Amino acid sequence: MSYDKIEVPSSGSKITYDEETDELNVPDDPIVPIIYGDGIGSDVGPATQKVLDAAAEATGREFNWMRVYAGESAREKYDENLPQETVDAMSEYRVSIKGPLTTPVGAGFRSLNVALRKRLDLYANVRPTYFLEGIDEVSPVKRPQDMDMIMFRENTEDVYAGIEWEAGTEEVEEVRDFVEDEMGFDSTIHDGPVGIGIKPITEFGTKRLVREAIDYALENDDKNTVTLVHKGNIMKFTEGQFRDWGYEVAEEEYGDEVITEDTLWEERDGEQPEDAVVVNDRIADNMLQQMLTRTDEYDVLALPNLNGDYLSDSAGAQIGGLGIAPGANFGTGKVLAEPVHGSAPKYEGQDKVNPTAMILSGRLMLEYMGWDDAADLVRDAVEQAISAKTVTYDFHRQMEGGEKLATSEYAQVVVENIEDLA
Ligand code: NAD
Repeated sequence: MSYDKIEVPSSGSKITYDEETDELNVPDDPIVPIIYGDGIGSDVGPATQKVLDAAAEATGREFNWMRVYAGESAREKYDENLPQETVDAMSEYRVSIKGPLTTPVGAGFRSLNVALRKRLDLYANVRPTYFLEGIDEVSPVKRPQDMDMIMFRENTEDVYAGIEWEAGTEEVEEVRDFVEDEMGFDSTIHDGPVGIGIKPITEFGTKRLVREAIDYALENDDKNTVTLVHKGNIMKFTEGQFRDWGYEVAEEEYGDEVITEDTLWEERDGEQPEDAVVVNDRIADNMLQQMLTRTDEYDVLALPNLNGDYLSDSAGAQIGGLGIAPGANFGTGKVLAEPVHGSAPKYEGQDKVNPTAMILSGRLMLEYMGWDDAADLVRDAVEQAISAKTVTYDFHRQMEGGEKLATSEYAQVVVENIEDLA
């Protein structure tokens, strides 16, 4: 495919995907699209690139970065927020990484992050939260070392699907009439202006997400449970259905490898068979408190879109906050890594914020590519920087002693750690 304003690197090869075997073919010199992002993206994007370059080089490989544009950078080049060729390039090259993109609240354009995930059909937003040495100094909880969870957040539906109508419009009144008159919910909605949104949760969307979560647990020996997190007691036909379809996948598609919590207690007296994954469910509000009180009992969480948004930020706080919380969006043979945090506009261009979240998102991307040695190097090098207290302002202010570094200086320390560790 040829592009108008995207410069395809003159060297490097394309990552390809084999549908039949469901395998990604990753050359040693891949071309990888990158969006630096808005606000602090111009600081954390280049810092991440530098660290990932060092990890590739240390393991005998090389990234060929391809800048693509969304948000502010796209408005400058294309006069639009999300050019089609950005989506096309990310789809064609399969593995990419992005910084945060600003979304105006209330009015203005819809989230470009949500649009990208939907247009690329990246259906699982994957957010790991794990302890690194040194984090105990910045964590607000007593035992951050108990935290080792990975959340699989559904990415394409729920109230996030963008089906909503603004108060005062003809459309919203039509929907109100339909709901009240045709569907029998008379007098359920208060009189006067109303905004209405729709919450679709499908069998297709739920099952492919839950499969992804179960597969992950089966592939990783240290992950023994998958928890379906929902508000099915209140939203019975959406979140309750999410739970039921989740259990259906567990019961019908995995044989003895996966058992439900009910079976575990009713038939096995709580004794978990070796290598089997147990699927259970928790109501979201209860899960939020159990994340704090029984942190070490949970491994993999599968959640509808909105629950996943809330719970992953909260889990991130337990291991040091948004500056360190990584994420990636998985599709079929496609990945887009991105930090959990936003564009923090007040820190834009100050070379100040913590690039760790985007760097560790890059670690997830490396794992997806099968470059586990490079991924481990990134993790260890970040851990070394934090435990040596060579950190950015957000961590520094919560530590005793240590050295406060700019974004770029911190990235340099991580690069040097990679070189020493390799
Ligand atoms: P935010 O994550 O941008 O910032 C909230 C606060 O968290 C910051 O003020 C800062 O104190 C701290 N923080 C965030 N990232 C940090 C980092 N790397 N290092 C140190 N501290 C950091 O959230 P917000 O202010 O609610 O949102 C700002 C904009 O970002 C909005 O337009 C929002 O829509 C957008 N956003 C984008 C994404 C995304 O691109 N995936 C995610 C969340 C929010």
